[in-house]
Amino acid sequence: MSLSRLIGGFVVRHWRAYAASGLMLVGIAVLIVWLPRQVGQMVDALLARQLHGTALLRELGLLLAAGVAIYGLRVGWRLQLYAAAYRMGVELRTRLYQRLALQGPRFFQTRRTGDLMALATNDVDAVEMAASEAMLAGFDGTLTLVLVVAMMTLGVDWRLALVVLLPFPLMALAFWWISRHVHEASRQALTAFGQLNDHVQETLSGVRTLRALGLEARSSRRFGELTQSAADAGFDAQRWEAAYEPAVGFTLSTAVVLALGFGGWLVWQGEMTVGQLTSFGMYLGQLIWPMFAAGWVLALIERGRAAWARLEPVLAEPLSVDDHGTVAAVQPGTLVLQDLHFRYPGQAEPALQGVSLQLPAGQTLGLVGPTGAGKSTLIKLLLRQWAPQQGHIHWGPWPLADYTLAALRAGIAWVPQEAFLFSATVAGNIARARPGASRAEIEAVARQAAVHDDIQRLPQGYDTPVGERGVTLSGGQRQRVAIARALLADAPLLLLDDALSAVDSATEARILAALRQQRQGRTVIIASHRLSTLLDAEQIVVLRHGQVAERGSHHGLVALGGWYATQWRVQQLEASLDAE
Ligand code: ADP
Repeated sequence: MSLSRLIGGFVVRHWRAYAASGLMLVGIAVLIVWLPRQVGQMVDALLARQLHGTALLRELGLLLAAGVAIYGLRVGWRLQLYAAAYRMGVELRTRLYQRLALQGPRFFQTRRTGDLMALATNDVDAVEMAASEAMLAGFDGTLTLVLVVAMMTLGVDWRLALVVLLPFPLMALAFWWISRHVHEASRQALTAFGQLNDHVQETLSGVRTLRALGLEARSSRRFGELTQSAADAGFDAQRWEAAYEPAVGFTLSTAVVLALGFGGWLVWQGEMTVGQLTSFGMYLGQLIWPMFAAGWVLALIERGRAAWARLEPVLAEPLSVDDHGTVAAVQPGTLVLQDLHFRYPGQAEPALQGVSLQLPAGQTLGLVGPTGAGKSTLIKLLLRQWAPQQGHIHWGPWPLADYTLAALRAGIAWVPQEAFLFSATVAGNIARARPGASRAEIEAVARQAAVHDDIQRLPQGYDTPVGERGVTLSGGQRQRVAIARALLADAPLLLLDDALSAVDSATEARILAALRQQRQGRTVIIASHRLSTLLDAEQIVVLRHGQVAERGSHHGLVALGGWYATQWRVQQLEASLDAE
């Protein structure tokens, strides 16, 4: 969709505001062209000594009233228009936000957070300006231009008007040339701002690591470079935008010279009165605004177009996870994974190849294997963050793809290794899984997740704010709060992706025991490095290089004498050394 269609659609939807603004502008334009004519007639009448006393006062009063009316109408159209323009900003930002909220990992893998934030602020602002200021100033300028030129031609003298307008086509040519540069410079300025934003965002979210690695100086240098190039690009865009003004100034000066020369000659020849020349001069002065407006409008439109060219692909990008399913509530049953193959975009090696397994409802599956074996990937396929390139997943009577994403989100509770907490209180964070949960319910799940005692020791207990991303909690506390949140969701499928890695083994054992007790038919999949976590799992699958290398119960796998048995011995030895 082009920018003009976007704005056109918006104008149609909000036609009342635009029509009201347009009508007020017409009122202003009519008054503005009436004024010079009136003044010209007054000058002639004064020169002929025909205007004095109350008649003169009345004429002056009329001029004053026209001035006040112009002022009122100018305020009126701006109020109307800006209200509409802000609505457009809200609409665009909402569309962008909703789109981003629906996109999956594939989308975010190729986009930068800071740049997306710049799109939602800077670029939307530029489009908003094109839909408001540019539209109406363009309309106003064109209207004034047409009326003023008509008055010059028909109301004063067409020969003089023709001569005076001669330099204007040259100005149009200059405008066209400048606009091309403004577009390119604006595009670069917006992109540079996006890069700068991205650097700030990344630096702030990784500030601890940055400091730990002693990279502050390097990061500051990079910031200096980026902010300099953003400033340069912004300056370049401003410089091109400023080029409109000299073009206007030069054209108008030439026009004034022509008006005085040719107009003076006409007066000399007796073909024109001084009053008429005065009116003509005033009309010429009134052309200043439409000319400057043209430059300004073109600059705003080019900036808006450059911003829209960055925004549109993001809005139009198909969702990375399609949501064509129709089954609106999950029907828990056996999970069947059949011959799954999956390769991340741009990767040479597949992350999963030919994985098949069956997990009856209510059972626990343990996923183990070396780092990078594909455990998290398998879990992400179950969450439908990615779709397998080959093979099927069935849950209960339906293929996973037949469920709506909303149904899956409600039916699966997932705890990743990097538990994410929101800037809210501890209770608020747990309650995200089920807004409206009572304090008793929140405390019950916190007890199951073995984090209740920790929370009680916090300064304000459950009402303690956890800071951005939960910075005020330890890694293990964060993980357990995230587990409590997942338990509150009470979903039939619980996925724990190395979710207890920062918790000591005794606490882990307590959590797992509570999980088993409260399970009530819940299917659980646990990816873990600590094999002791999985002793009670009905099934354990060892993944290596994306393939199922071993499978069975704990005892079966120990007896098998493969990777699992070796790992088990190593971990037992470590545990006994730790205990000493
Ligand atoms: P595990 O959870 O067993 O440690 P993963 O499932 O995270 O392993 O990773 C399996 C393989 O896929 C690894 O080789 C990893 O580098 C690759 N991988 C994981 N996530 C991505 C991604 N988002 N993009 C590209 N490759 C990925």
